[in-house]
Amino acid sequence: MTDKKIRRLPKWLKRPLPSNETYNKTANTLRDLEIETICTNAGCPNRGECWSCGTATVLILGSICTRNCKFCSVTSGKPAPVDSTEPDRVAQMAEKMKLKYLVITSVNRDDLVDGGASQFRDVVNKTRQNAGAIRFELLVPDFKGCPDRALEILDSAKPFVFGHNVETVPTLYHKARSGGDYALSLELLQKAKKRWSEMPTKSSIMLGLGETDEQVEAVIKDLKSVGCDRLAIGQYLKPSPDSLDVVEYITPEKFDFWAQRAGQLGFEWVMSSPFTRSSYHAEK
Ligand code: SF4
Repeated sequence: MTDKKIRRLPKWLKRPLPSNETYNKTANTLRDLEIETICTNAGCPNRGECWSCGTATVLILGSICTRNCKFCSVTSGKPAPVDSTEPDRVAQMAEKMKLKYLVITSVNRDDLVDGGASQFRDVVNKTRQNAGAIRFELLVPDFKGCPDRALEILDSAKPFVFGHNVETVPTLYHKARSGGDYALSLELLQKAKKRWSEMPTKSSIMLGLGETDEQVEAVIKDLKSVGCDRLAIGQYLKPSPDSLDVVEYITPEKFDFWAQRAGQLGFEWVMSSPFTRSSYHAEK
């Protein structure tokens, strides 16, 4: 594929930016309550659609990450101290937006002894208290150095889905996710499944970074082998000029192929399309 073809978005990746009354309400609520979202921090292409439907994925523990993954546009650096008002602000947001399903994620907080797990717990519990019947999907970092402690803390905030993304194939970790460890990510998913056998676990992988089909298939099998139940597969899109280049635009037909393959390999829930992100239509 030539450079020129790579730079031009294929037609299936072009979409209008919807903006309606609900979109504005979502944006205003988030702004008024100073809620960070991964939708804006990672430059997600689905923001128009999701916010227009009144959903957003909350990014807790600040907007500065202790890692510097090259597929992600979240700012890297020294994060601010944990904000004790955050649980209350997220709870107010959920109440105001009348949410029935909320995905919560965070930056990596390698500076915290529990990797930020207690803030996940506090946000969930406070929101449950205020907003009543609401299901939570947690998309957590790898809790490097403290996975057992982190899972123990999350015991008292049991979400509906426990998610952790492997993001890409292991051979691309050195350039895409250099602070991560593929084996550690699989281990975290396995530990979570062992601890909460009834709770679905979920992971996500981006395609288009230069991985081969064999490598993708191997990741799907690895995830299945650690009991992962749900899988999201989407197209990597360069979120900022400093991020990794897209190596390939994967066709919608190929995404359909992977959806089918993951289903054959035993996943109970699969979403696979160019615009799929781990939190995209997560409530479905
Ligand atoms: S897919 Fe997730 S991150 Fe993207 S806009 Fe929707 S809720 Fe936000």
